[in-house]
Amino acid sequence: MLRPRSKEAVIDMVRFCDREGIPVTVRGQGHTCFYPAANGGVLIDMSSLRTLHEIGPGFAHVDAGCTWEQVLDATLAASPPQVPPVINGFSRLSIGGTLSAGGISGMAYFCGCQVEHVLELEVVTGDGRLVRCSEHSERRLFEAVLAGQGQCGIILNARVALKPAKSRTREYTFMYPSLAALLEAMNALLDEAEHARSPRLDLIWGSAARTPAGWGFALLANAHYEPGHEPDRTGLFRAITPPAPPLEFDGTFREYIRQLDEKILAIPTGGGRYPMWLDMFVPSERLVEYAGGILDRTQDDDVGQGGLVLLFPLETRTSTRPLMRLPASKRVYLFDYCRNTDPISAAKAEELLTRNNALYQEGVAAGATAYLIGAVRMTPADYQVHYGPVWQRFAADKREFDPRLTLGRGTPIFSHMLRDETARGEPR
Ligand SMILES: Cc1cc2nc3c(=O)[nH]c(=O)nc-3n(C[C@H](O)[C@H](O)[C@H](O)COP(=O)(O)OP(=O)(O)OC[C@H]3O[C@@H](n4cnc5c(N)ncnc54)[C@H](O)[C@@H]3O)c2cc1C
Repeated sequence: MLRPRSKEAVIDMVRFCDREGIPVTVRGQGHTCFYPAANGGVLIDMSSLRTLHEIGPGFAHVDAGCTWEQVLDATLAASPPQVPPVINGFSRLSIGGTLSAGGISGMAYFCGCQVEHVLELEVVTGDGRLVRCSEHSERRLFEAVLAGQGQCGIILNARVALKPAKSRTREYTFMYPSLAALLEAMNALLDEAEHARSPRLDLIWGSAARTPAGWGFALLANAHYEPGHEPDRTGLFRAITPPAPPLEFDGTFREYIRQLDEKILAIPTGGGRYPMWLDMFVPSERLVEYAGGILDRTQDDDVGQGGLVLLFPLETRTSTRPLMRLPASKRVYLFDYCRNTDPISAAKAEELLTRNNALYQEGVAAGATAYLIGAVRMTPADYQVHYGPVWQRFAADKREFDPRLTLGRGTPIFSHMLRDETARGEPR
């Protein structure tokens, strides 16, 4: 394992491994639910590369091993205070890891996932080239790396966008009796924002929690504000008729993020094993049928007490990165089925993985796409379906930037290329 102290150490290691035919796996904070194994090669733990290089007006230049929590602390302390447009539902994830996956939370619904808010990346490709890339320069690599699962290059550092911060946030939690009622309310708020072309709510998400009395559904929505300009609740929620007045949280944005992290950390994840979560982007119009069906069939050993289901809305017009594969629908919801799997044996993990695979196939048949962080064992054929119209382009990028398949072999997106090489007598 390499714990690099500088970007040069990463570059040297990639060049060495590429020359010697040694596979390289990269880790941010290791939260990918089905973590790709290093296959006997070198694991580069990027968490040791965590310098905040610069915070300026509208941007932060940070190492890939920094967490969003670390970035947020620094940008809020800057003068004037700023924030990234999207902080994950759990802020202790790395910049490099989330930009390789997508990066979503309830803040993304109107402005897009974290991959949409990247100004520039510095990347070492699989064949050891050091490249700065952006929408305006080396765009092909830029787009092969964002949501690219670490297949074409390792992100060394990133220049990410910031926006002005407001000092406080108020979150309103409305309870709903059914998934259909929750979805109707969320869609009404989202429709209103789309119609006005400007969101009045800074964050919208949904959740379902299992209680002895059955599933309880909640709509959570925040408005950021400055003291003296408190949010007008009636105006904010005029598009919906909630069944009861909301619960309210009021605090600084930092306090809000901290309590959210603590809630996520409270979900048992199997005693240190990767969590057996299922993550699917589902077309809004199929959500009740697909997610509702799964909730109806949920058993105690799927999502027990303490388990949680999250729903993050996203307008697909916000998505411009080719490798971020979303369903062909105007609006999608990330259905995040956070199984409560504690404690868990290897046999149980295998059983839950089999269940996830069946739910994944059911989702694909319903027009959903996987968010590639979940515990699903996908085959190269599944990946080909997943990437659809950009599959050929992604494969060409892999050949261009990582021709000897040095990076990310544990994720079997391009394992057919490895087999082809072996068949030609060129095993690496
Ligand atoms: C408790 C928990 C909460 C989560 N909350 C959210 C959430 O709110 N929103 C969300 O979008 N996801 C969430 N996830 C899912 C997910 O794990 C992360 O989005 C993503 O994997 C980043 O986590 P990480 O920093 O630990 O990266 P890792 O899991 O370590 O890496 C993710 C992938 O990126 C690759 N990679 C890592 N660093 C680099 C790099 N520098 N360059 C190139 N490739 C790299 C890895 O090889 C791997 O394929 C959550 C997961 C857990 C377990």
